[in-house]
Amino acid sequence: MTELRWYGWGDAAKTYALNHRPDAWKFLCAALDLGGEERFPPCDFDSINLRSPRIDETTLLMALATDLRPTSTPAEAFVRNDKRVRVLHAYGRSYRDLIRLRRGEILNPPDAVVFPATEDQVVRLIQFCVDKNIALVPFGGGSSVVGGVEPRGERVTVTLDLARLNRLIALDAVSQTATIEAGILGPDLERELNAHGLTLGHLPQSFEFSTLGGWIATRGAGLASTKYGKIEAMTVSARVATPRGIVETRAAPATAAGPSFLQLVIGSEGTLGVITQATMRLHELPKASDYRALLFKRFGDGVVAIRDMLQSDIAPATVRLSDEDETRSFFSLREASTGWKGFTERIGIRAVTALGYSFERGALMILGFEGSADAVSAEQARGLAVCRAHGAFDLGHGVARAWLRDRYETPYLRDVLMDRGVLVDTLETATTWENLERLHGKLAAAIADAAASTGARALVMTHVSHCYRDGASLYVTFLARMARGKEIEQWETIKRAATDCIMANGGTLTHHHGVGYEHAPWMEKEIGARGMDALRAVKQALDPNDIMNPGKIFQ
Ligand SMILES: Cc1cc2nc3c(=O)[nH]c(=O)nc-3n(C[C@H](O)[C@H](O)[C@H](O)COP(=O)(O)OP(=O)(O)OC[C@H]3O[C@@H](n4cnc5c(N)ncnc54)[C@H](O)[C@@H]3O)c2cc1C
Repeated sequence: MTELRWYGWGDAAKTYALNHRPDAWKFLCAALDLGGEERFPPCDFDSINLRSPRIDETTLLMALATDLRPTSTPAEAFVRNDKRVRVLHAYGRSYRDLIRLRRGEILNPPDAVVFPATEDQVVRLIQFCVDKNIALVPFGGGSSVVGGVEPRGERVTVTLDLARLNRLIALDAVSQTATIEAGILGPDLERELNAHGLTLGHLPQSFEFSTLGGWIATRGAGLASTKYGKIEAMTVSARVATPRGIVETRAAPATAAGPSFLQLVIGSEGTLGVITQATMRLHELPKASDYRALLFKRFGDGVVAIRDMLQSDIAPATVRLSDEDETRSFFSLREASTGWKGFTERIGIRAVTALGYSFERGALMILGFEGSADAVSAEQARGLAVCRAHGAFDLGHGVARAWLRDRYETPYLRDVLMDRGVLVDTLETATTWENLERLHGKLAAAIADAAASTGARALVMTHVSHCYRDGASLYVTFLARMARGKEIEQWETIKRAATDCIMANGGTLTHHHGVGYEHAPWMEKEIGARGMDALRAVKQALDPNDIMNPGKIFQ
């Protein structure tokens, strides 16, 4: 079983080999004015002191079901309140979370973590929490970056980890749908479906450590969303255990039965109830795929190329366009092997720059097609023609292969950089094509200015991904020297400036990370006061005592 890194990302046995990338650290030191000597190591796990649990395990075990015993399954498979499990469930994986974990600052951990094995046990636990006025936090993989799984408020809090609700319940091969329990992790889900020649096609960067229920609860998006859609497009129906009982939506390909209750469940972030299972739309496993990298002279040329592709009904699985700063950083972080080596041997950097392209000031696009062999070659030919018409230079497969290989590895880089005193975080939004370049410029400037106000020079890198006929998502990664001793205040200054900028300049508050408590202050601006009233009324109808994930979405 994978041992999770308690203060950072993923598998504790893995790290990001910064040393294999010859220019990377030098590049970052120059870009961020780093001295290179700074260190911010995590505290010693043994030195962390947690408040004592305010509820005992036996009470919770009894609450799940009296008929649990006699059973061959040990009690700790159902209920735990040891330090390790409480630390692992105290926070998600936002920058704020990782700073507090490194400092050993865990002031409000859950009092216990419960692992129900059946929906019936979920229902009993909810009823117990209602009766005792205990707050209940649903927990999938815990990869939230908006504070979604953190206990809030003074009440005793139990975290409900869905890890044991992880079965494929039914597969309808004729309709290409499957009903699956919500706690299944990405790799397990794909393994089950792939055995039947099928895929969900949802591949977020957190894929290995996030769950179906978490994806639905946060309206997530995967890297192939341009072809397969966001999770809300993949979800046919869901079953939710609420404090007022089970709510199940009808599995139909489409309906005109009033406003969509399913769409209220999607994105509800555990505030209405626990999603126990969902029926999902599937696709045949692609028989062929083609991923290649293209270089544009300017970011704006690439933006227009994507828009033209999408509006000509060309549907890449992945289209991801980095702005000039991200392109420059991508090539500086390259590994001296595989894709890059192949590229430099085959084409050569000089040949590309002689044609007026630049790895310093150009814009890199990863363009991937998936499907039947015929469809891939036809669509790719059309897509490439559009990109060439906008001046793209085809870098071939090697660079794209290296990007695909590393896609689940880059989250480990954050821990390595934080070790070295670097603030590193990401944020995202979406807007129309008409507004996209304007918002891109404003947002980069707002982040750089806010970082400067904290005395740090920022590296702000953006890419366009998750593309639609009418617009696309902007995904921003920003780095700066940590303001030591004021790490969280510095980050809050930047995050607030960025979010204010998004809201003032026509972006959505969030395209796929969700609301949690980090984005809650801006929710009224996003959907209006009456919109908030309506959502509160739904919450009141299903969870009148506010036991479900209090403090999230609603302030
Ligand atoms: C390195 C990294 C990369 C990421 N990349 C992406 C990405 O590419 N795309 C993307 O969309 N997001 C991404 N995220 C954000 C995060 O992974 C997503 O929000 C993901 O959908 C959360 O899934 P989870 O299972 O970890 O949910 P958790 O973090 O456990 O929970 C998230 C929220 O959903 C609620 N919840 C969880 N399960 C249930 C359930 N069964 N019923 C009701 N409520 C529930 C929780 O209470 C919480 O409010 C990334 C995060 C990290 C740290």
